[in-house]
Amino acid sequence: MSAWAGEPDHFAKVFESEGGDRRGFAQRRFFARYLGDILNDAVASGCAEVIEATAVSGRREELAWHIGFEDGSSLQARALVLATGNQEPEGLRAFSGVGSRLIRNPWGSEARAAVAELAAYDGDALLVGTGLTMVDLVLSLDAAGFRGNIVALSRRGLAPRAHADFEPAPVEEREVPKGSVRALWRWLRRRGAEVGWRAAIDSLRPHSQGLWQSMGPEEQRRFMRHARPWWDVHRHRIAPQVAATIARLVGERRLEIVAGRVISVRPSAGELEVQIRRRRSGNLETMGFAYAFNCTGPLHSIERSKDPLLRSLLDAGEVRPDHLGIGLDVDGESRAGERLWALGPLTKGRYWEIIAVPDIRDQAAAVAEDIARELHE
Ligand SMILES: Cc1cc2nc3c(=O)[nH]c(=O)nc-3n(C[C@H](O)[C@H](O)[C@H](O)COP(=O)(O)OP(=O)(O)OC[C@H]3O[C@@H](n4cnc5c(N)ncnc54)[C@H](O)[C@@H]3O)c2cc1C
Repeated sequence: MSAWAGEPDHFAKVFESEGGDRRGFAQRRFFARYLGDILNDAVASGCAEVIEATAVSGRREELAWHIGFEDGSSLQARALVLATGNQEPEGLRAFSGVGSRLIRNPWGSEARAAVAELAAYDGDALLVGTGLTMVDLVLSLDAAGFRGNIVALSRRGLAPRAHADFEPAPVEEREVPKGSVRALWRWLRRRGAEVGWRAAIDSLRPHSQGLWQSMGPEEQRRFMRHARPWWDVHRHRIAPQVAATIARLVGERRLEIVAGRVISVRPSAGELEVQIRRRRSGNLETMGFAYAFNCTGPLHSIERSKDPLLRSLLDAGEVRPDHLGIGLDVDGESRAGERLWALGPLTKGRYWEIIAVPDIRDQAAAVAEDIARELHE
């Protein structure tokens, strides 16, 4: 989780110097402070300035970008980097018109207020989606002292697997089949049986962008449709301590992870009456929840982004959706347009595995160099 490309140990060293165990897991809070300190140093050195504002428009005049902010102010820049991260999740059709008992953005202030309310008063919670966002929210509810029940639901009911120590088993890129999801899956199964699934999937880490690019758009779509849920839960694992909390709550019957579908939702007597169909039994069940949270994960359609800055750039034709429509079209140097770069999840159409810190830091370093080259020419 080091912030510095070429110095993968940096975060572990800082963590250790403050009494942490370098083989253990750090809390998010610690990581936030680590990044904050690095940013503060950059500001103190005079090479960066932080502005607290929402960018709502971007307009290019020859080689200058004019960025407009929500409060009416603006600034001019010679280069623009879009690093706006994940987009809010897709709306949930079954929940349309149910009002404020559905939390649409599980990462925002609404969600924090709902967690506090759930902890203070009784009531059950429905989490739609069973990935990392679900895990995060379960932890937040547990930490806030929530005593009610949680139902977490997704089509397959797949939840992130736990991390554990394992012996790495690196592979060369040429040993891994390219261009086909099926062949890759077969390889992963065989390799997993030999060295363990964690070592097998992690051995793909240095090659994942090349593997993704070796698939044509059809195979990439096939991967997203069929393989992605499995890939995500094995590749993006949770800390053993976090897995233990999830297991404890399941054991206490306060958390149930359900494979199924929401059939209908009706606001009733201050709560949501939700009808669910279980995948295996096909049984229909109606349950009441004080709140439902959309934990289906980041939006996978850039055209439907609500981010005003992205909207303004898309509408003006300054940026284009990538070939899958999940991010922005960027070239091999993460350039999205004229003196315009994009970073992180915005570039997942080109790179796919570009959502975790180790991947983003390398991309950020390469973009910084590219900008320096461009502006000094
Ligand atoms: C539940 C969950 C758990 C995760 N756990 C991990 C993990 O353990 N390890 C890991 O490596 N990754 C993890 N990730 C992924 C990781 O958090 C993101 O992919 C990463 O933060 C993306 O970094 P970023 O800098 O591109 O965007 P972000 O960190 O999302 O930052 C984007 C910033 O842009 C700002 N912004 C957006 N639009 C505008 C605008 N119009 N004007 C001004 N500002 C704007 C936002 O407010 C925000 O500050 C997790 C993701 C989720 C959802």
